[in-house]
Amino acid sequence: MASTETTQPEISSQPQQDLETRLSFLQFSPKDEANLKDLSGILAPHISDLVAEFYQHLQKFEETASLLTDELITERLLTAQRAYLERLTQGNYDSQYAAERLKIGQVHNRIGLLPRWYISAYNLYIHLLYPLVFQAYCDDPEQIQNTILSLTKVLMLDIQLAIEAYIDSFSKQLQDANRRLEEYNLNLQAMVRQRTEELESFVYTVSHDLKAPLVTIQGFATAMEEDYAAQFDATAIEYLNYIQRSALKMGDLIQDLLELSRIGRIESPHEAVEMQQIVQEALTQIQLQIEAAHVDVEIQAALPTVQCGKSRLVQVFVNLLTNAVKYMGENPSPRIQIGWQDQGDFYEFFVADNGIGIEPQYHEKIFELFQTLRELEGVEGTGVGLAIVKRIIAYHKGTVWVTSEKGKGSTFHFTLPKMGMFQK
Ligand code: ADP
Repeated sequence: MASTETTQPEISSQPQQDLETRLSFLQFSPKDEANLKDLSGILAPHISDLVAEFYQHLQKFEETASLLTDELITERLLTAQRAYLERLTQGNYDSQYAAERLKIGQVHNRIGLLPRWYISAYNLYIHLLYPLVFQAYCDDPEQIQNTILSLTKVLMLDIQLAIEAYIDSFSKQLQDANRRLEEYNLNLQAMVRQRTEELESFVYTVSHDLKAPLVTIQGFATAMEEDYAAQFDATAIEYLNYIQRSALKMGDLIQDLLELSRIGRIESPHEAVEMQQIVQEALTQIQLQIEAAHVDVEIQAALPTVQCGKSRLVQVFVNLLTNAVKYMGENPSPRIQIGWQDQGDFYEFFVADNGIGIEPQYHEKIFELFQTLRELEGVEGTGVGLAIVKRIIAYHKGTVWVTSEKGKGSTFHFTLPKMGMFQK
Protein backbone atom coordinates (compact mmCIF):
# COMPACT_ATOMS: atom_id res chain seq x y z
CA MET A 1 0.00 0.00 0.00
CA ALA A 2 1.15 3.54 -0.54
CA SER A 3 2.20 6.07 2.01
CA THR A 4 0.48 9.33 2.88
CA GLU A 5 3.81 10.66 4.09
CA THR A 6 5.36 13.54 2.19
CA THR A 7 8.72 13.99 3.94
CA GLN A 8 11.80 12.43 2.40
CA PRO A 9 12.96 9.23 4.10
CA GLU A 10 16.56 8.81 5.13
CA ILE A 11 18.44 7.03 2.42
CA SER A 12 21.17 5.87 4.73
CA SER A 13 18.65 3.84 6.71
CA GLN A 14 18.87 1.17 4.04
CA PRO A 15 22.48 0.71 2.95
CA GLN A 16 23.09 -0.23 -0.65
CA GLN A 17 24.92 -3.41 0.30
CA ASP A 18 21.96 -4.70 2.27
CA LEU A 19 19.60 -3.94 -0.59
CA GLU A 20 21.82 -5.71 -3.10
CA THR A 21 21.80 -8.82 -0.94
CA ARG A 22 18.02 -8.73 -0.71
CA LEU A 23 17.63 -8.32 -4.48
CA SER A 24 20.09 -11.07 -5.18
CA PHE A 25 18.27 -13.42 -2.81
CA LEU A 26 15.08 -12.60 -4.72
CA GLN A 27 16.99 -13.45 -7.93
CA PHE A 28 16.13 -9.99 -9.17
CA SER A 29 18.08 -9.27 -12.39
CA PRO A 30 18.38 -6.35 -14.85
CA LYS A 31 15.95 -8.35 -16.98
CA ASP A 32 13.35 -8.04 -14.21
CA GLU A 33 13.92 -4.32 -14.09
CA ALA A 34 13.42 -4.13 -17.85
CA ASN A 35 10.22 -6.20 -17.65
CA LEU A 36 8.82 -3.87 -15.04
CA LYS A 37 9.72 -0.78 -17.05
CA ASP A 38 7.91 -2.28 -20.02
CA LEU A 39 4.89 -2.72 -17.81
CA SER A 40 4.88 0.94 -16.96
CA GLY A 41 3.37 1.96 -20.33
CA ILE A 42 0.75 -0.79 -20.07
CA LEU A 43 -0.21 0.28 -16.57
CA ALA A 44 -0.44 4.04 -17.16
CA PRO A 45 -3.96 4.23 -18.72
CA HIS A 46 -5.39 2.00 -15.95
CA ILE A 47 -3.95 3.68 -12.89
CA SER A 48 -7.03 5.75 -12.05
CA ASP A 49 -9.27 2.68 -12.27
CA LEU A 50 -6.89 0.62 -10.16
CA VAL A 51 -6.79 3.28 -7.45
CA ALA A 52 -10.60 3.53 -7.48
CA GLU A 53 -10.99 -0.25 -7.17
CA PHE A 54 -8.48 -0.34 -4.39
CA TYR A 55 -10.37 2.40 -2.54
CA GLN A 56 -13.69 0.58 -2.93
CA HIS A 57 -12.21 -2.60 -1.56
CA LEU A 58 -10.90 -0.82 1.53
CA GLN A 59 -14.34 0.69 2.08
CA LYS A 60 -15.90 -2.77 2.33
CA PHE A 61 -14.19 -3.65 5.59
CA GLU A 62 -14.80 -1.94 8.88
CA GLU A 63 -11.16 -1.95 9.98
CA THR A 64 -9.80 -0.43 6.76
CA ALA A 65 -12.82 1.83 6.13
CA SER A 66 -12.38 3.39 9.57
CA LEU A 67 -9.05 4.81 8.38
CA LEU A 68 -10.73 6.58 5.48
CA THR A 69 -13.24 8.73 7.32
CA ASP A 70 -11.05 11.82 7.19
CA GLU A 71 -11.25 13.39 3.73
CA LEU A 72 -7.77 14.82 3.81
CA ILE A 73 -6.21 11.49 4.80
CA THR A 74 -8.20 9.69 2.10
CA GLU A 75 -7.07 12.20 -0.49
CA ARG A 76 -3.46 11.80 0.52
CA LEU A 77 -3.78 8.04 0.52
CA LEU A 78 -5.17 7.93 -2.98
CA THR A 79 -2.53 10.31 -4.30
CA ALA A 80 0.17 8.22 -2.66
CA GLN A 81 -1.45 5.10 -4.07
CA ARG A 82 -1.21 6.46 -7.57
CA ALA A 83 2.41 7.48 -7.01
CA TYR A 84 3.21 4.01 -5.71
CA LEU A 85 1.76 2.24 -8.73
CA GLU A 86 3.76 4.54 -10.98
CA ARG A 87 6.93 4.07 -9.00
CA LEU A 88 6.52 0.28 -8.91
CA THR A 89 7.27 -0.01 -12.62
CA GLN A 90 9.81 2.78 -12.99
CA GLY A 91 12.90 0.68 -12.29
CA ASN A 92 15.79 1.99 -10.21
CA TYR A 93 15.20 -0.21 -7.17
CA ASP A 94 17.93 1.46 -5.21
CA SER A 95 18.46 2.45 -1.58
CA GLN A 96 16.19 5.47 -2.06
CA TYR A 97 13.43 3.09 -3.16
CA ALA A 98 14.08 0.82 -0.16
CA ALA A 99 14.06 3.76 2.25
CA GLU A 100 10.67 4.86 0.90
CA ARG A 101 9.22 1.39 1.46
CA LEU A 102 10.55 1.30 5.01
CA LYS A 103 9.00 4.67 5.66
CA ILE A 104 5.69 3.41 4.37
CA GLY A 105 5.63 0.60 6.92
CA GLN A 106 6.30 3.18 9.65
CA VAL A 107 3.49 5.46 8.46
CA HIS A 108 0.98 2.65 8.24
CA ASN A 109 1.86 1.54 11.70
CA ARG A 110 1.45 5.11 12.92
CA ILE A 111 -2.01 5.51 11.44
CA GLY A 112 -3.01 2.22 13.05
CA LEU A 113 -3.20 -0.11 10.06
CA LEU A 114 -2.40 -3.59 11.33
CA PRO A 115 0.11 -5.73 9.38
CA ARG A 116 -2.63 -8.24 8.49
CA TRP A 117 -4.49 -5.61 6.36
CA TYR A 118 -1.29 -4.30 4.97
CA ILE A 119 -0.04 -7.70 3.75
CA SER A 120 -3.44 -8.66 2.38
CA ALA A 121 -3.49 -5.45 0.37
CA TYR A 122 -0.64 -6.89 -1.71
CA ASN A 123 -2.99 -9.63 -2.78
CA LEU A 124 -5.19 -6.87 -4.12
CA TYR A 125 -2.34 -5.55 -6.23
CA ILE A 126 -1.81 -9.02 -7.61
CA HIS A 127 -5.52 -9.33 -8.29
CA LEU A 128 -5.57 -6.02 -10.16
CA LEU A 129 -2.22 -6.13 -11.95
CA TYR A 130 -1.84 -9.72 -13.14
CA PRO A 131 -4.90 -9.64 -15.45
CA LEU A 132 -3.43 -6.57 -17.10
CA VAL A 133 -0.23 -8.48 -17.82
CA PHE A 134 -2.19 -11.41 -19.26
CA GLN A 135 -4.17 -9.05 -21.45
CA ALA A 136 -1.14 -7.12 -22.72
CA TYR A 137 0.93 -10.20 -23.61
CA CYS A 138 -1.86 -12.62 -24.56
CA ASP A 139 0.17 -13.93 -27.55
CA ASP A 140 3.40 -14.32 -25.63
CA PRO A 141 3.14 -16.78 -22.70
CA GLU A 142 6.84 -16.52 -21.92
CA GLN A 143 6.63 -12.76 -21.51
CA ILE A 144 3.56 -13.21 -19.28
CA GLN A 145 5.51 -15.58 -17.06
CA ASN A 146 8.60 -13.36 -16.91
CA THR A 147 6.67 -10.19 -16.19
CA ILE A 148 4.56 -11.87 -13.51
CA LEU A 149 7.74 -13.15 -11.87
CA SER A 150 9.39 -9.70 -11.98
CA LEU A 151 6.29 -8.09 -10.53
CA THR A 152 6.09 -10.69 -7.77
CA LYS A 153 9.74 -10.13 -6.86
CA VAL A 154 9.35 -6.40 -6.44
CA LEU A 155 6.16 -6.85 -4.45
CA MET A 156 8.01 -9.32 -2.19
CA LEU A 157 10.76 -6.79 -1.68
CA ASP A 158 8.18 -4.16 -0.70
CA ILE A 159 6.47 -6.51 1.72
CA GLN A 160 9.65 -7.49 3.54
CA LEU A 161 10.83 -3.91 3.90
CA ALA A 162 7.50 -2.67 5.20
CA ILE A 163 7.16 -5.55 7.64
CA GLU A 164 10.63 -4.84 8.99
CA ALA A 165 9.55 -1.28 9.56
CA TYR A 166 6.57 -2.54 11.54
CA ILE A 167 8.80 -4.80 13.62
CA ASP A 168 11.25 -1.99 14.22
CA SER A 169 8.50 0.30 15.31
CA PHE A 170 6.99 -2.37 17.60
CA SER A 171 10.34 -2.96 19.27
CA LYS A 172 10.76 0.77 19.80
CA GLN A 173 7.33 0.92 21.41
CA LEU A 174 8.29 -2.03 23.59
CA GLN A 175 11.55 -0.38 24.60
CA ASP A 176 9.65 2.81 25.48
CA ALA A 177 7.13 0.86 27.52
CA ASN A 178 9.96 -0.96 29.30
CA ARG A 179 11.70 2.31 30.08
CA ARG A 180 8.50 3.77 31.48
CA LEU A 181 7.95 0.62 33.53
CA GLU A 182 11.46 0.85 34.90
CA GLU A 183 10.96 4.49 35.89
CA TYR A 184 7.66 3.63 37.47
CA ASN A 185 9.29 0.79 39.35
CA LEU A 186 12.07 3.05 40.64
CA ASN A 187 9.52 5.61 41.82
CA LEU A 188 7.55 2.90 43.50
CA GLN A 189 10.64 1.58 45.24
CA ALA A 190 11.54 5.06 46.45
CA MET A 191 7.98 5.52 47.71
CA VAL A 192 8.00 2.18 49.53
CA ARG A 193 11.38 3.02 51.04
CA GLN A 194 10.12 6.36 52.27
CA ARG A 195 6.92 4.85 53.69
CA THR A 196 8.88 2.09 55.41
CA GLU A 197 11.21 4.64 56.95
CA GLU A 198 8.24 6.66 58.18
CA LEU A 199 6.62 3.58 59.59
CA GLU A 200 9.80 2.45 61.29
CA SER A 201 10.35 5.78 62.90
CA PHE A 202 6.68 5.80 63.95
CA VAL A 203 7.04 2.33 65.53
CA TYR A 204 10.22 3.46 67.21
CA THR A 205 8.64 6.62 68.68
CA VAL A 206 5.49 4.85 69.81
CA SER A 207 7.31 1.95 71.44
CA HIS A 208 9.76 4.30 73.03
CA ASP A 209 6.98 6.51 74.43
CA LEU A 210 5.05 3.50 75.69
CA LYS A 211 7.98 2.51 77.88
CA ALA A 212 7.53 5.34 80.39
CA PRO A 213 3.85 4.66 81.31
CA LEU A 214 4.65 0.95 81.39
CA VAL A 215 7.43 1.48 83.90
CA THR A 216 4.95 3.50 85.98
CA ILE A 217 2.38 0.67 85.85
CA GLN A 218 5.01 -1.89 86.83
CA GLY A 219 6.35 0.37 89.59
CA PHE A 220 2.95 0.99 91.16
CA ALA A 221 1.91 -2.65 90.82
CA THR A 222 5.05 -3.64 92.73
CA ALA A 223 4.44 -0.89 95.30
CA MET A 224 0.87 -2.09 95.76
CA GLU A 225 2.05 -5.65 96.26
CA GLU A 226 4.66 -4.57 98.79
CA ASP A 227 2.55 -2.05 100.73
CA TYR A 228 -0.97 -3.44 100.56
CA ALA A 229 -0.65 -7.20 100.08
CA ALA A 230 -1.82 -7.78 103.65
CA GLN A 231 -5.10 -5.94 103.02
CA PHE A 232 -5.87 -7.76 99.74
CA ASP A 233 -7.92 -10.89 99.50
CA ALA A 234 -6.94 -13.76 97.18
CA THR A 235 -8.90 -12.38 94.21
CA ALA A 236 -7.26 -8.95 94.49
CA ILE A 237 -3.83 -10.63 94.60
CA GLU A 238 -4.75 -12.69 91.53
CA TYR A 239 -5.83 -9.53 89.66
CA LEU A 240 -2.61 -7.81 90.65
CA ASN A 241 -0.63 -10.78 89.28
CA TYR A 242 -2.51 -10.48 85.98
CA ILE A 243 -1.53 -6.82 85.79
CA GLN A 244 2.11 -7.65 86.50
CA ARG A 245 2.25 -10.48 83.98
CA SER A 246 0.60 -8.38 81.30
CA ALA A 247 2.94 -5.51 82.00
CA LEU A 248 5.91 -7.87 81.62
CA LYS A 249 4.51 -9.20 78.34
CA MET A 250 3.97 -5.66 77.13
CA GLY A 251 7.56 -4.84 78.04
CA ASP A 252 8.74 -7.79 75.90
CA LEU A 253 6.56 -6.63 72.99
CA ILE A 254 7.87 -3.08 73.19
CA GLN A 255 11.44 -4.36 73.34
CA ASP A 256 10.87 -6.57 70.28
CA LEU A 257 9.20 -3.74 68.36
CA LEU A 258 12.07 -1.41 69.14
CA GLU A 259 14.43 -4.08 67.90
CA LEU A 260 12.45 -4.55 64.71
CA SER A 261 12.37 -0.84 63.97
CA ARG A 262 16.13 -0.61 64.48
CA ILE A 263 16.96 -3.10 61.72
CA GLY A 264 16.28 -0.77 58.83
CA ARG A 265 17.11 2.46 60.64
CA ILE A 266 20.37 1.71 62.31
CA GLU A 267 23.00 0.45 59.92
CA SER A 268 25.23 -2.21 61.30
CA PRO A 269 28.61 -2.28 59.56
CA HIS A 270 29.08 -5.07 57.03
CA GLU A 271 32.21 -7.13 57.28
CA ALA A 272 33.57 -10.54 56.42
CA VAL A 273 32.75 -12.76 59.39
CA GLU A 274 33.18 -16.48 59.95
CA MET A 275 29.77 -18.04 60.36
CA GLN A 276 31.26 -20.36 62.97
CA GLN A 277 31.92 -17.34 65.17
CA ILE A 278 28.38 -16.03 64.71
CA VAL A 279 26.87 -19.39 65.64
CA GLN A 280 29.09 -19.71 68.70
CA GLU A 281 28.09 -16.26 69.95
CA ALA A 282 24.43 -17.06 69.51
CA LEU A 283 24.84 -20.38 71.34
CA THR A 284 26.64 -18.65 74.20
CA GLN A 285 23.76 -16.20 74.57
CA ILE A 286 21.20 -18.97 74.97
CA GLN A 287 23.46 -21.51 76.66
CA LEU A 288 21.29 -21.68 79.81
CA GLN A 289 18.13 -22.51 77.85
CA ILE A 290 19.94 -25.18 75.87
CA GLU A 291 21.37 -26.80 78.98
CA ALA A 292 18.05 -26.65 80.82
CA ALA A 293 16.30 -28.42 77.94
CA HIS A 294 19.18 -30.93 77.48
CA VAL A 295 19.33 -30.22 73.77
CA ASP A 296 22.07 -31.78 71.73
CA VAL A 297 23.48 -29.24 69.22
CA GLU A 298 25.33 -30.38 66.09
CA ILE A 299 27.17 -27.91 63.87
CA GLN A 300 28.25 -28.89 60.36
CA ALA A 301 31.98 -28.50 59.76
CA ALA A 302 33.64 -25.68 57.82
CA LEU A 303 30.92 -23.03 57.98
CA PRO A 304 31.87 -20.37 55.42
CA THR A 305 32.79 -16.74 55.86
CA VAL A 306 29.99 -14.32 55.00
CA GLN A 307 29.61 -10.62 54.32
CA CYS A 308 27.13 -9.36 56.89
CA GLY A 309 26.27 -7.19 59.84
CA LYS A 310 27.64 -9.52 62.47
CA SER A 311 25.40 -8.63 65.43
CA ARG A 312 22.32 -8.90 63.18
CA LEU A 313 23.25 -12.39 62.08
CA VAL A 314 23.87 -13.39 65.71
CA GLN A 315 20.36 -12.15 66.38
CA VAL A 316 19.00 -14.35 63.56
CA PHE A 317 20.59 -17.45 65.10
CA VAL A 318 19.52 -16.49 68.62
CA ASN A 319 15.90 -16.20 67.46
CA LEU A 320 15.94 -19.42 65.43
CA LEU A 321 17.73 -21.40 68.15
CA THR A 322 15.50 -20.01 70.91
CA ASN A 323 12.45 -21.10 68.92
CA ALA A 324 13.97 -24.51 68.25
CA VAL A 325 14.40 -25.00 72.02
CA LYS A 326 11.05 -23.39 72.88
CA TYR A 327 9.04 -25.51 70.44
CA MET A 328 10.81 -28.79 71.13
CA GLY A 329 7.81 -30.40 72.82
CA GLU A 330 8.23 -33.65 74.72
CA ASN A 331 10.95 -35.18 72.56
CA PRO A 332 13.10 -37.48 74.78
CA SER A 333 16.23 -36.78 72.69
CA PRO A 334 15.97 -33.14 71.61
CA ARG A 335 18.42 -32.23 68.86
CA ILE A 336 19.29 -29.13 66.85
CA GLN A 337 21.41 -29.24 63.68
CA ILE A 338 23.04 -26.21 62.10
CA GLY A 339 24.35 -26.58 58.57
CA TRP A 340 24.93 -24.99 55.21
CA GLN A 341 25.18 -25.54 51.46
CA ASP A 342 26.98 -23.69 48.71
CA GLN A 343 24.36 -22.58 46.18
CA GLY A 344 26.56 -20.78 43.66
CA ASP A 345 25.98 -17.04 44.08
CA PHE A 346 24.80 -17.47 47.64
CA TYR A 347 25.07 -19.63 50.74
CA GLU A 348 22.12 -21.41 52.22
CA PHE A 349 22.09 -22.02 55.99
CA PHE A 350 19.66 -24.00 58.07
CA VAL A 351 18.66 -24.60 61.67
CA ALA A 352 16.81 -27.89 62.04
CA ASP A 353 15.09 -29.25 65.15
CA ASN A 354 13.18 -32.43 65.98
CA GLY A 355 10.46 -30.58 67.84
CA ILE A 356 6.70 -30.18 67.40
CA GLY A 357 6.83 -29.06 63.77
CA ILE A 358 4.49 -26.64 61.99
CA GLU A 359 1.51 -27.41 59.79
CA PRO A 360 2.04 -26.32 56.16
CA GLN A 361 -0.74 -23.71 56.21
CA TYR A 362 1.26 -21.69 58.77
CA HIS A 363 4.62 -21.83 56.98
CA GLU A 364 4.35 -18.28 55.65
CA LYS A 365 2.13 -16.79 58.30
CA ILE A 366 4.62 -17.37 61.14
CA PHE A 367 6.99 -14.82 59.57
CA GLU A 368 4.39 -12.07 59.88
CA LEU A 369 4.43 -9.68 62.79
CA PHE A 370 2.56 -10.82 65.93
CA GLN A 371 1.76 -14.24 64.45
CA THR A 372 2.02 -16.91 67.12
CA LEU A 373 0.58 -20.39 67.05
CA ARG A 374 -0.71 -21.40 70.42
CA GLU A 375 0.68 -24.88 70.26
CA LEU A 376 2.21 -25.48 73.62
CA GLU A 377 0.96 -24.92 77.11
CA GLY A 378 3.18 -22.55 79.00
CA VAL A 379 5.17 -21.33 75.98
CA GLU A 380 4.83 -17.60 75.69
CA GLY A 381 5.79 -15.57 72.68
CA THR A 382 5.28 -12.16 71.16
CA GLY A 383 5.22 -13.29 67.53
CA VAL A 384 7.97 -10.83 66.63
CA GLY A 385 11.01 -13.15 66.55
CA LEU A 386 10.57 -14.54 63.06
CA ALA A 387 9.48 -11.12 61.71
CA ILE A 388 12.83 -9.83 62.96
CA VAL A 389 14.64 -12.75 61.30
CA LYS A 390 12.85 -12.10 58.01
CA ARG A 391 13.61 -8.40 58.18
CA ILE A 392 17.32 -8.97 58.87
CA ILE A 393 17.67 -11.55 56.09
CA ALA A 394 15.77 -9.35 53.62
CA TYR A 395 18.04 -6.47 54.60
CA HIS A 396 20.98 -8.70 53.60
CA LYS A 397 19.23 -9.45 50.27
CA GLY A 398 18.53 -13.04 51.24
CA THR A 399 15.37 -15.05 51.81
CA VAL A 400 14.11 -17.17 54.67
CA TRP A 401 11.61 -20.03 54.72
CA VAL A 402 10.64 -23.07 56.70
CA THR A 403 10.17 -26.71 55.79
CA SER A 404 8.27 -28.70 58.35
CA GLU A 405 5.53 -31.17 59.09
CA LYS A 406 3.53 -31.25 62.24
CA GLY A 407 5.17 -33.60 64.73
CA LYS A 408 8.27 -34.09 62.59
CA GLY A 409 10.46 -31.13 63.51
CA SER A 410 11.13 -27.90 61.61
CA THR A 411 13.99 -26.68 59.46
CA PHE A 412 14.44 -22.94 59.01
CA HIS A 413 16.49 -22.08 55.91
CA PHE A 414 17.94 -18.74 54.93
CA THR A 415 20.21 -17.49 52.18
CA LEU A 416 22.93 -14.85 52.07
CA PRO A 417 24.50 -13.61 48.84
CA LYS A 418 28.22 -14.31 48.71
CA MET A 419 28.87 -10.74 47.59
CA GLY A 420 26.98 -9.41 50.61
CA MET A 421 24.02 -7.07 50.50
CA PHE A 422 25.58 -4.90 47.81
CA GLN A 423 25.05 -7.57 45.23
CA LYS A 424 22.67 -6.38 42.51
P1 ADP B 1 7.14 -16.30 69.16
O1 ADP B 1 8.10 -17.42 69.30
O2 ADP B 1 7.48 -15.14 70.02
O3 ADP B 1 5.71 -16.70 69.25
P2 ADP B 1 8.12 -16.12 66.48
O4 ADP B 1 7.88 -15.05 65.47
O5 ADP B 1 9.51 -16.41 66.86
O6 ADP B 1 7.26 -15.68 67.72
O7 ADP B 1 7.44 -17.43 65.96
C1 ADP B 1 6.12 -17.41 65.46
C2 ADP B 1 5.45 -18.76 65.65
O8 ADP B 1 6.07 -19.72 64.80
C3 ADP B 1 5.58 -19.32 67.04
O9 ADP B 1 4.54 -18.83 67.86
C4 ADP B 1 5.50 -20.81 66.82
O10 ADP B 1 4.16 -21.22 66.80
C5 ADP B 1 6.07 -20.99 65.43
N1 ADP B 1 7.45 -21.48 65.47
C6 ADP B 1 8.58 -20.75 65.35
N2 ADP B 1 9.68 -21.53 65.41
C7 ADP B 1 9.25 -22.81 65.54
C8 ADP B 1 9.89 -24.09 65.64
N3 ADP B 1 11.23 -24.22 65.61
N4 ADP B 1 9.10 -25.18 65.78
C9 ADP B 1 7.77 -25.07 65.78
N5 ADP B 1 7.08 -23.90 65.71
C10 ADP B 1 7.82 -22.78 65.58
